[in-house]
Amino acid sequence: MSNDINKDLDRFSRLVNVFLKSEKNNPVSRFITPSKLTEGIDVSLDYNGVSAEVLDKILEKIMLISPKSSSSLFFNQLYGGRHSKAVLGDLLSIIINNSMATFKISGVHSLLEKEVVTRVSKLIGYDQDFGGTLPTGGSMSNFMSIVIARDKVNKTIPQKGIVPNLVAYTSENAHYSISKNASFIGLGKLNVRYIKSNNRGQINIEELKKQIEEDISKGLIPFYLNATAGTTVLGAYDNIKELAIVCKKNKIWLHVDGAFGGTVIFSKKLKFLLDGINQSDSFCFNAHKTLGAPISSSIFLVKNKKYLNTSFNNDASYLYQTEDEDYNLGQTSFECGRKNNALKIWTLWKSIGDKGMSEIVEHNFGLAEEARKYIRSNKDYTLHSFENSLSICFNYKDYDPRDLCTKLYKHSKIMVGFGQFQNFFFIRLVTVNSQNQTLDIVNFFKVLEKFAKENENNIKRRSS
Ligand SMILES: *Cc1c(COP(=O)(O)O)cnc(C)c1O
Repeated sequence: MSNDINKDLDRFSRLVNVFLKSEKNNPVSRFITPSKLTEGIDVSLDYNGVSAEVLDKILEKIMLISPKSSSSLFFNQLYGGRHSKAVLGDLLSIIINNSMATFKISGVHSLLEKEVVTRVSKLIGYDQDFGGTLPTGGSMSNFMSIVIARDKVNKTIPQKGIVPNLVAYTSENAHYSISKNASFIGLGKLNVRYIKSNNRGQINIEELKKQIEEDISKGLIPFYLNATAGTTVLGAYDNIKELAIVCKKNKIWLHVDGAFGGTVIFSKKLKFLLDGINQSDSFCFNAHKTLGAPISSSIFLVKNKKYLNTSFNNDASYLYQTEDEDYNLGQTSFECGRKNNALKIWTLWKSIGDKGMSEIVEHNFGLAEEARKYIRSNKDYTLHSFENSLSICFNYKDYDPRDLCTKLYKHSKIMVGFGQFQNFFFIRLVTVNSQNQTLDIVNFFKVLEKFAKENENNIKRRSS
């Protein structure tokens, strides 16, 4: 078969049109079990290729049965919708296909990445020593932060390996990447303290202080605290200002994981949620979660670039053949070949400005408020989450939230997930798709209510 980019871009346009139409008319793809899927579609890879016509048909089919993550009834993950300008930037980056490792291959794109990093650093109030990079996601951003903290606490570690007695802290509601990362860096999952949270899902600071004191008295060395700006379930914001005081006192690296909720930095009205962020040592957020950028778009910042360099630079004379040190971005990244994830964020930001970025974030928080209002004014619902969060946790009548969510999915009505806080289960609606309007949120509840009514006798009830 031909390798002709122009022909395939035409094909691309056609397939995209088919998909977008379907996304509008059928916001939730039909649920099909894995075994049924393989009956209906030829996924096999064979010795001979297929004709253009056959390929077209298969690709179209794949697109139409893919779970739809950008539709008005998708609330299942912490991302949704798409901003067309970010998509444009991302598509261009695929065609240009630069790697961000060296200036020689990234050229102007290293400037774009640096501009994004610089502007974010200004927003959060880091001084001129800041550094940053665009890792492959929030998990990787968090990983880089704990590597840096480890290397800072004992400078022999990068050469000789991990030392005993190190201990890290996070909240019981933190993202699971913290635990995985502890394993990856040789610390071990058991050497992470999962501090109890208060009843709003924020780290309990008194508990944290007590644990640190206890650990120090046992001869352990606290070196890293991961705070969360927007926890995965409740969307809670840890109190950065107070955590910063504790960390400074005990020489603990303070990383703020804002993968979900960190984009409040763009809003004058909402950035109070990250009060004290300029006192953190590192920070990250995902542009793909609340800003409508395609997966994955994570931005990782450190207050002092020196530490990023210390942990992630390695001599490689075969690679770094020019003198543009500061523009050889591979010296401060985990990856060598690295997709240009800056272009989509830069294209979006350039086209809508700080003002537009702020509007997206405030719009999403506005939708969350509308959802809470709906719940509060309807006695069939109970609300289990709080103000200033993009995550709306609730139960409807006495339906079992796990069963209700699963059935909504299997009947192709809504993609929405359930969550759990302190052993209590609920439905978790997230307002991260800024293309949604209040009507779409109301529609979510209406679809849910109608489905529950029609299936009244088939949905499990909560036991308590
Ligand atoms: C989503 C999320 C992550 C992980 O980000 P990925 O880009 O999916 O790796 C980390 N922390 C929090 C709080 C998140 O919500």
